[in-house]
Amino acid sequence: MKLGELEFWLITDGTFRLDGGAMFGVIPKPMWERVAPPDERNRILMAMNSLLIRAAGKWILIETGAGDKWDAKRTEIYSFDGAPRLPDKLVTHGVPPEQIDIVINTHLHFDHCGWNTRLVNAEAIPLFPNARYMVQRAEFEHAQSPTDRDRASYFLENFMPMQKSGQWHLLEGDTEVVPGLDLIRVPGHNRDMMCVRLTGGGKTVFFTADLIPTAAHVPYPWIMGYDLYPLTTLENKQKWIPQAVRGEWLVIFGHEARTPCGYLTEQKGKFVLEPVQLDA
Ligand SMILES: [Zn+2]
Repeated sequence: MKLGELEFWLITDGTFRLDGGAMFGVIPKPMWERVAPPDERNRILMAMNSLLIRAAGKWILIETGAGDKWDAKRTEIYSFDGAPRLPDKLVTHGVPPEQIDIVINTHLHFDHCGWNTRLVNAEAIPLFPNARYMVQRAEFEHAQSPTDRDRASYFLENFMPMQKSGQWHLLEGDTEVVPGLDLIRVPGHNRDMMCVRLTGGGKTVFFTADLIPTAAHVPYPWIMGYDLYPLTTLENKQKWIPQAVRGEWLVIFGHEARTPCGYLTEQKGKFVLEPVQLDA
């Protein structure tokens, strides 16, 4: 899709599964299972959505999925699926990892930064050798000493190798990466997660990351049990969703597998998604 000079493609690193109860927090199962049917282990299907962007003469990748540094036990727990995975999709788009100039992680949970690195002789090294990697400085620091509650979401091998290679460019708050690409710190899911706004040609695209992980999470109280600050998530949904409706922004959800993007409208006090199919 084109936004003036800026062009972007929605690509995924395939799908995985997480516990449906954890994904919907205080929402009772009889309500969420109608929109997100669980498997026999109560897990719901989620995608790991990324954006490949061409802007200001640079190739920019937002989110790097879950990667492949997984042992058999965790592969089974999360049920990673869906070839081709992200690096192969980049090659298909004619942009192999060496050509990526900037990699942006909205935060450092494993499902957002897995392909930051790959294993070579059992050592994790950056997959994007020529890229600057970006994340909030406070998230980078938190990721190295998480709490007992969010420890399972962080793996050092996804983000420490770029410390060694000097590829991190750590951000302090909201940042315009190139004209038309803004990173906005949106706390709630954790303290320093970012959403991404693309603008150009009179249009706006909003990548929600984990503020609104799937289309089912659009209603205000439908908030993940994983969130460290759910009331802040609520405030930020109340801030950003009406803006997206008024501005007719194209919204792209961080983890939606079936209808990853579309326009939100308000009908009889409810937000309704009109899904949009982007060309691959
Ligand atoms: Zn996530």
